[in-house]
Amino acid sequence: MIQTAISAEQELVFPLFAEKNLQLFVKRDDLIHPFISGNKWRKLKYNLQAAREQGSKALLTFGGAFSNHLVATACAGAAVGFGTIGIVRGEPVANHVLSLCRLYGMELHFVSRTDYREKEQLQEKYSRQFPEAYVIPEGGANELGEKGCEDIVHELQGIYSDLFVCCGTGTTAKGIIQAGFAGKIHLVPVLKSNEHDHLASEKVMLHKEYHRGGYAVFDEELVRFICDFSSHTGILLDPVYTGKLFAAVFDLAKKDAFVPGSRILVIHTGGLTGVLSDKFLLLNK
Ligand SMILES: *Cc1c(COP(=O)(O)O)cnc(C)c1O
Repeated sequence: MIQTAISAEQELVFPLFAEKNLQLFVKRDDLIHPFISGNKWRKLKYNLQAAREQGSKALLTFGGAFSNHLVATACAGAAVGFGTIGIVRGEPVANHVLSLCRLYGMELHFVSRTDYREKEQLQEKYSRQFPEAYVIPEGGANELGEKGCEDIVHELQGIYSDLFVCCGTGTTAKGIIQAGFAGKIHLVPVLKSNEHDHLASEKVMLHKEYHRGGYAVFDEELVRFICDFSSHTGILLDPVYTGKLFAAVFDLAKKDAFVPGSRILVIHTGGLTGVLSDKFLLLNK
């Protein structure tokens, strides 16, 4: 079994927040495991249980060539005794993320972007090819994935007025909403899309202006922000997810979007492979 502790809630001290009479906290899901990171562990947890109950021998899943979910699945599979098969979007490539997947024994199959888009056909094809495998959708985006993310709220020790989380597929956000967090929930989509609009409600605010042009699109300004944040706190952020998330929280604080006295909790969903990309290297000068 994979042993994990309840992730810490830690206060961060920044002059901006002190000036505005706000308190900023981070839930350190990035510390759950170095490679089964953050929300990827949350989303795998109950899927692994289901795979075992069904007597599956292997895990079959999908992702891009820089997917945190692929690495997490490869590592978790290795740790608990499942083989792992990763269906990777696009032409065969080599990078640090896929190298980690291979280190953990994942068998990689590359699929053209056109074929990858036909999700149902793709899933059928590979389920037929690997009938003993338990299939996990891309990003761990299924009901068991949401259930795992509900635990984020159930675990909370402190009382907070506001909770921030970023959205890719929105699975983590759905879990948090379903778990019934008592304060206001803020969602920061990291891609340009209307697919999260239906999650907004009186309790749930959607901040759609922080994706910087799209999924995995980022600029030097964001890299600077991440450098400043990490050098001030000792906590790494990545440019795809948590960098955009914290940049949004800081921008909203600057714009006086919070009631003085607010206690703001940001969920650090982990996933630090974004800093391993060539583009990040080029901009981090
Ligand atoms: C995958 C990932 C997300 C996206 O989570 P969803 O549940 O798909 O919205 C957020 N943060 C990090 C660090 C990730 O790796």
